[in-house]
Amino acid sequence: MTTNRRFTLSLLAAAALSAGWTAAHAEDKVLNLYSARHYQTDEALYSDFTKATGIKINRVDADDAGIVARLRAEGAASPADVILLVDAARLAVAESQGLFLPIKSAKLDATIPANLRSAATPDGVAWTGFSTRARVIVYDPTRVKAADVATYEQLADPKLKGMLCTRSGSHPYNLSLFATVVERLGDQKGEAWLKGLVDNMARDPKGGDTDQIKGVASGECGVALTNSYYFARMLKSNKPEDRAVTERVRVVFPNQGTSGTHVNISGAAVARHAKHPEAAMAFMEYLASPSAQEYFANGNNEFPAAKGVKIANAALKAMGGDDFKAETVPLASVARNLTKVQQMLDRAGYK
Ligand code: FE
Repeated sequence: MTTNRRFTLSLLAAAALSAGWTAAHAEDKVLNLYSARHYQTDEALYSDFTKATGIKINRVDADDAGIVARLRAEGAASPADVILLVDAARLAVAESQGLFLPIKSAKLDATIPANLRSAATPDGVAWTGFSTRARVIVYDPTRVKAADVATYEQLADPKLKGMLCTRSGSHPYNLSLFATVVERLGDQKGEAWLKGLVDNMARDPKGGDTDQIKGVASGECGVALTNSYYFARMLKSNKPEDRAVTERVRVVFPNQGTSGTHVNISGAAVARHAKHPEAAMAFMEYLASPSAQEYFANGNNEFPAAKGVKIANAALKAMGGDDFKAETVPLASVARNLTKVQQMLDRAGYK
């Protein structure tokens, strides 16, 4: 059954059952949201939606893995209408497990760039990015020259031997980056690049992105990878020690002269067994509106995904992120390349 037909049927059913109309209508004024986001500005995001539509949002907060596990356990009985997750790799995995209902929306087609959404099928699009985060390089200017870390490709150059720090190669942030690099370079060059990264490690992968930034500041690492918002968070921190860390390192938005900087997404999808599909569609389209984009992106120092929406964020601007060239490789390629990249990491000994 296509999405359109499903919506049409639910409308007809509501209209036909005049006695039951009030109950059905009342039920449509609720949206059950499973969210892996937990930022304060999201509260305003939700209350504005309720004010505009009368649809009340019931929220279940968990991390990405917890949400996916819950959806699988609940199956067809799941009350979830919309799912918010924070990474293309995780969205791709949930999509492959059949947890999402593909949707068709002319509004989203017009507003959100196609490369920030899952592949379009005859049934529609499974997930949609609503904010972006750049995977940037940070380096120690006393040990590394800017010209030697201008691209992701250069991170595999023997010049940087013993200097590279990353979190686990299997972390979704790295998997998403690696999947798009393999998409761009092809399998052979992509795998050689991953081996080159392993050869350049200062230490075994460990910690989160913030730990990599701190590793560069402490001298343990010469160069590292991090999502842009972690650096922005430290720049804005009221702890002097955080700001001191940012003063000791430099940020590069990689591949500005070539393919553009890899961006990942926070994204949303309609749940496969959504009980309020129309409310779910309304919420998905609302997330693309300029005011929602501001709440959604700025709440975590991210960039808006909707075309033509610009947000002033002093920390991102200070990092050079106000007008960078972003990669246009479709994030749908992450879904295609995920298993292959994981196998390459195993062969390369990337922990
Ligand atoms: Fe994160």
